[in-house]
Amino acid sequence: MTIPLSRPEIGALEVEYVSRVLRSGSLSLGPKVSEFEDKFAEYAGTRYAIAVTSGTSALHLCVKALGIGPEDEAVTTSFSFVASANCLLYEGALPVFADIDAETLNLDPERIRDVITTDYLWDRTRDSLIHRESGRALKAILPVHIFGLPCDMASILEIADEFNLYVLEDACEALGSCYRGQRVGTFGDAAAFGFYPNKQLTTAEGGMIVTNDEQIAASCRSLRNQGRDSEASWLRHIALGYNYRLSDLHAALGLAQLERIEELLTSRERLAREYFRALSNVPGIVLPRESTDCSRSWFAYVIQTAGPLAAAKRNGLMAGLHARDIACQAYFPPIHRQPYFREIQLSRTPSLPLTDMAAERCLALPFFPAMTSAQIGEVSAAVRELLSADLAPAEPQQKYFSASAGSGL
Ligand SMILES: *Cc1c(COP(=O)(O)O)cnc(C)c1O
Repeated sequence: MTIPLSRPEIGALEVEYVSRVLRSGSLSLGPKVSEFEDKFAEYAGTRYAIAVTSGTSALHLCVKALGIGPEDEAVTTSFSFVASANCLLYEGALPVFADIDAETLNLDPERIRDVITTDYLWDRTRDSLIHRESGRALKAILPVHIFGLPCDMASILEIADEFNLYVLEDACEALGSCYRGQRVGTFGDAAAFGFYPNKQLTTAEGGMIVTNDEQIAASCRSLRNQGRDSEASWLRHIALGYNYRLSDLHAALGLAQLERIEELLTSRERLAREYFRALSNVPGIVLPRESTDCSRSWFAYVIQTAGPLAAAKRNGLMAGLHARDIACQAYFPPIHRQPYFREIQLSRTPSLPLTDMAAERCLALPFFPAMTSAQIGEVSAAVRELLSADLAPAEPQQKYFSASAGSGL
């Protein structure tokens, strides 16, 4: 594609920091990982930060450290990248989906309450919500700050408090976002960030757990390192652990990116403003939601088609952009409609009309710090032209999954 969907912003500082580690000979378990963790914790505003191999492994260790297991369930969103539900499945826990808000595309707290009152009973002896049929306990809410827009954390924390639920934030798309002046990732018991190359900060592959809870931090530190006991000998293992360690090479890349984070986020903000200006009077689309409660760190610029035949228009727009060599992606097909997920749903088939609607209408446009104004102009002009043409499909189209190969996620 002439204009890619995303591209990491790698400069001289990144090359220098990574080269220094290469020359040092200390490629793993060296000093760069803890330096990255310390600086990241300071930026995120949490007491602890634990670096791991990906956002997915960060989520997985949080689930494990919170003790969420085979007898448990957690409420989350189906309008997300699969990792936010998979992390529960890894531990035998069941993700239970609540519908989203059509504008913010984030979990709707009212729908969480609906799920709770319809499907669960409060068990006073266990101090827990228990599913009416399966008898499993509802242990947590797992909000995802989708496309960088913070969830309604005040309402989510209120529900969590009322029903004794943990809150695990998937902040993988929201590094730097604030809700009511406070950084996301600091609201829950723990949070996960991801550093894949399309994210606001990249380490190529990598992730970070942040928490203020000493025990969760200690548990995650041990689990990422084969369940080692930090105080004792190298070959003493106190738990079934993993090798989820981030290397010093990756950490050095992260340190360079973190030093430049304000510049990287400002570029993204500027591009979003340019898209808003260029697309503001294009009929038939809805632009990303802005909120006075939040300042959003821009992960992606995602528009929605609107009106009659909105889903067909989205697919037509996607095909038209691809034909012009402009990358775009239908973020996100609902998790509960993924082929592998249908087998997992057991007897419960959620009805998530707003998740389905968003999945049919959303389209992520090219978005990366080095994007030029000319490229924004080209993409916006293409969107405008394609929408003024007749985008009704000649043939029936697949509902959720486009045939085109994805780039990245
Ligand atoms: C990127 C992302 C993750 C983590 O992805 P990794 O590729 O494992 O780093 C998790 N959840 C969401 C919503 C994401 O966008």
